[in-house]
Amino acid sequence: MGLEEAIPVDGYLTTQLSRVINWARRSSVWPMPFATACCGIELMATASSRYDLARFGAEVFRFSPRQADLMIVAGRVSVKMMPVLQRIYLQMTEPKWVISMGACASTGGVFDTYAVVQGVDQFMPVDVYVPGCPPRPEMLIEGVMAIQKIIDEDNIPYDGEGNRKPLEIELFADNTKPVDVTIDHT
Ligand code: SF4
Repeated sequence: MGLEEAIPVDGYLTTQLSRVINWARRSSVWPMPFATACCGIELMATASSRYDLARFGAEVFRFSPRQADLMIVAGRVSVKMMPVLQRIYLQMTEPKWVISMGACASTGGVFDTYAVVQGVDQFMPVDVYVPGCPPRPEMLIEGVMAIQKIIDEDNIPYDGEGNRKPLEIELFADNTKPVDVTIDHT
């Protein structure tokens, strides 16, 4: 790979342990897909060869919450289903992250009925809202990258009592606004 010429073989590197840990964490974000509807198809496409989520180390979809640290809610969630989603979230490893993918997960979308949750953030913390109906795979990748940026900067936000605070990053479909990763730790 040419690394041998760039770095002397008997040389050494120094860095902070936290940098190495964050690098490893952000390079191996393992998603827990909670795909209930059409957004799930775009989620699958994101992991396919055309979009290749593996470039970001996030292609290892786990169906066991204890082996996952990124919940991706893709599709509408019914009121009856919400306790299941909450339980899966609680079983995931810390530090963990949540992406709300698409209009239905974030707001209920066109399903303005008593049976559909009008935004999963009413019942669980959401770190990134990915817009669209459905969002394109590039948009979901943007959401994953936003979380990687937070991990790189070790900006895991906790409130004064040690509880995890949601990042609440909004992505914009036309990419006119850069992702704001400034976090209020108060
Ligand atoms: S946001 Fe659109 S594409 Fe996604 S689950 Fe809802 S209706 Fe389907």
